[in-house]
Amino acid sequence: MTNTANSRPFESHRVTAMALDPIHVGTGGTRLGRVDLSIVRDPVTRLPKIPGSSLAGVHRAYAALAKNRYPRCAGQGQEKPGSGGHCGQMDCPICTVFGFARGQGGGFAGLAGFTDAQLLLFPVPTYRGPHWVTSPETLRAADIEPPTVENDKVHLLEPDGHLNLGWLMLEGTTIGDHARLRGALDNLRVPDCVSKHIAIVSDQLFTHIVNSNLEVRTSVSIDPATGAAEEGALFTYEALPRATILTWQVTCRNPIHFGTGQEQDKAVRTPRDVFEVVAEAQPYLEQLGIGGMGTRGMGRLRVLASADGTNSGPA
Ligand SMILES: [Zn+2]
Repeated sequence: MTNTANSRPFESHRVTAMALDPIHVGTGGTRLGRVDLSIVRDPVTRLPKIPGSSLAGVHRAYAALAKNRYPRCAGQGQEKPGSGGHCGQMDCPICTVFGFARGQGGGFAGLAGFTDAQLLLFPVPTYRGPHWVTSPETLRAADIEPPTVENDKVHLLEPDGHLNLGWLMLEGTTIGDHARLRGALDNLRVPDCVSKHIAIVSDQLFTHIVNSNLEVRTSVSIDPATGAAEEGALFTYEALPRATILTWQVTCRNPIHFGTGQEQDKAVRTPRDVFEVVAEAQPYLEQLGIGGMGTRGMGRLRVLASADGTNSGPA
C-alpha cells in the first residue's frame, strides 16, 4: 500500500450479483393487493429493491461467521442477559467495519456503507426464451450510459418482429451502440447467456413489466407448538425471481480518520482492508442467502463481480 492509497478518504466498490433462488426481503407484514407479504419497493420508482440495511446486516453476520472469532459482534448488538452486545473495540474487524451499538462515545456507524441493491436486469419468460429486461434509468443507476430508447418498443440485440413480455406485446427494434453496452455488462461480469438476451424498454414500461412478473408463492404457517399447519393459515408472498441481476455499492471509509488509539492496533488500516472484510462475507450469500423464507429454499445470491476501487475519493 502506498501513502497515496492510505490517504484517500474512501473507496467505492460496485458489486453485481445474481439471484440463485427467488429472494424475499419483506416490508414486515404489510399487505399489498392480494399478496400477504410484499417485498420492499423504492417509494419513487415502485421498483423492488433490497435495502442497504439488510445487506449490511447479512454481511456483518457472515463476516463474523467467516472469522469464527466474534460471535457477540455478529448480531444487532442489543445487550441482553448472557450476551454483552458488540465489543466495540478498534481491534475488532466486525465492529470497526460494520459499526457497533455501544461503547465509548455511544456507538459507531462503521467504515463500510451499503447502498440499496437495485435491479439491473430482470428475467422475463417470452416465447423466444427468457429475456433480461432493463431501462435507461436502471442502467444509469449502475453507472452505465444507456442507449436511446423509443417508448412502446423493446430494444433487442437481434430484433425479429414482436416480443411478448409478460402478456405485453411489443414491437422489437435494435439497441443502438450495443457493443458499448455489452462491454459495460462484461465489466460487471454479467454472464453471456444473460447479456445476449437483453431487452431494453422505457422506464415506465420497466416498472410495469417487473411488477407483473414477480414470483408470487403460497405457503402455510406452521404452528410452532404443534409443528402442524395452522388452521386457515395459507398465505402468499412475493419474491424477486431466480436469475434476477442486482447491483449495489459499498463505500469503504479510510480507518485513518476514525477511532482513537495506535494505528498498528487497528483491525483495519486502509479502505482496502475494510473491503476485504466485506468480501469475506460474499461466498456465504451463495450458501446461506439473504432475506426471509430461507428455510423454504429462498434467498441465495451469487456475487458476480466486486470491482476494484472504482470511484476512489481524491488522493
Ligand atoms: Zn466487536
